[in-house]
Amino acid sequence: MSIEDNMPAGAPDRLIDPAQAEQMDPALRPRQLADFIGQGLGRRNLETFIQAAQTRSDAMDHTLLHGPPGLGKTTMAQIVAAELNVGFRATSGPVIAKAGDLAALLTNLAPRDVLFIDEIHRLNPAVEEVLYPAMEDFQLDLIIGEGPSARSVRIDLPPFTLVGATTRAGLLTTPLRDRFGIQMRMQFYTTEELMLILSKQAVKLNMNLADDGAREVARRSRGTPRVAGRLLRRVRDIAAVDGVEIITADVADAALQRLEVDRRGLDAMDMKYLSCLAENYGGGPVGVETLAAVLAEQRDMLEEVIEPYLLQEGLLMRTPRGRCLSASGWSHLGLTPPAETLSQLDLLSATSEADE
Ligand code: ADP
Repeated sequence: MSIEDNMPAGAPDRLIDPAQAEQMDPALRPRQLADFIGQGLGRRNLETFIQAAQTRSDAMDHTLLHGPPGLGKTTMAQIVAAELNVGFRATSGPVIAKAGDLAALLTNLAPRDVLFIDEIHRLNPAVEEVLYPAMEDFQLDLIIGEGPSARSVRIDLPPFTLVGATTRAGLLTTPLRDRFGIQMRMQFYTTEELMLILSKQAVKLNMNLADDGAREVARRSRGTPRVAGRLLRRVRDIAAVDGVEIITADVADAALQRLEVDRRGLDAMDMKYLSCLAENYGGGPVGVETLAAVLAEQRDMLEEVIEPYLLQEGLLMRTPRGRCLSASGWSHLGLTPPAETLSQLDLLSATSEADE
C-alpha cells in the first residue's frame, strides 16, 4: 500500500480545501464550453480539437488535464463529451483494481465516447499495461485463466477518447503521459474570472450578490472555483441568518472574517505553516519532511494542499535546500525577518524552484 492510499484528501473541515468535492458541484457545473470561464489558450485549443474531431466524425485524441484540485478538470471532461455529443463515463484511478475492471469499462463504451479517469496517476501498474494498447490501437489484450490453461485474447474496442485528470502530472509514467495527444495544464483563475463564475453561481442559487461582494469573495478564493463556490454559499448562509439580503463587500468581509479566511484567502492552517517556518526556523530553509513532522501533517498533504497556493502567492519559496519564507511571507505574518535572513532572501529567490 502506498502512502497515498492512506492520504487524506486534504485536512477535514477546511473551508478553503480545494480537494474536498462538494455536494453542490454537479448542479453548479457549466455544461457548455461557452459557459466555461477562464483557462485562456488551453481552452481555445481544446475548442479547436473538439471542432476538428467533430468535422472528421472521429474520436478526439486522448486528453490529459493536469493541475491542482478544484480548477475544473472534471467539469472540462464533461464539457468535452457534451460538445462532442457523445456519452460520458467517469471513474477514478484507484477504483480500477484489476485489468478485468478496465476491460469491463472499455468494452461497454459506444464509439467516440469519453472515458474520464480521475487521479490517473494512481492507476495500478498492471492496469496501466492493459491501457497502453487500448489507447494506442483500440485493442484489449487480456489473459484469461491461470497456469497452463491460460490463454490470451485480443478484443477490438470502439474508438474512444480517454480524458485523464491528475493533480500530480510528475507521477505519471512516461509511456502513459506520451499516449495523450492533447495535454492541458489548468491554471489558477484571476479575480475577474472568479467574479464571473460567482455571479453565474449566484443566479443559479437565486441570491443577490453585488459586484463588490463578488470581488471580495473572489479575492479570498485562492484562484480556485471550487473554493469560491463554497465560500459564496457559506457567506450566503451567514447573511441569511443575519437577515441581510444583498451580499456587498462589507457583508462578505464580515462573514469571511467569522469563517477565519483572511484577506488573501489564507486560513488558520496556512498561518500555522507560515508561523512555524518563521518562529521555529527563522524563515528556513527547512526540509518538507521536518515541517510535516512538526506540524503533525503528512508530507503529501503539505505538498498538494497547503504549499501550492502559498508558492503561487509568493509567500513561500521552494529551494534546493528546503522551504523558505519569502519577504512577503514575513510581512503577511506582520513580522520583520532577522537581519541575516534578509540578506539570504535575495540569494535564495534567485535559486528557488518553480512549482512542479
Ligand atoms: P477538479 O475536477 O479540477 O477538481 P471540478 O471540475 O470538480 O474540479 O470543479 C469544481 C467546481 O468548480 C465545479 O462545481 C464547478 O462548478 C466549478 N468550476 C470549475 N471550473 C469552472 C469554470 N471554468 N467555470 C465555472 N465553474 C467552474
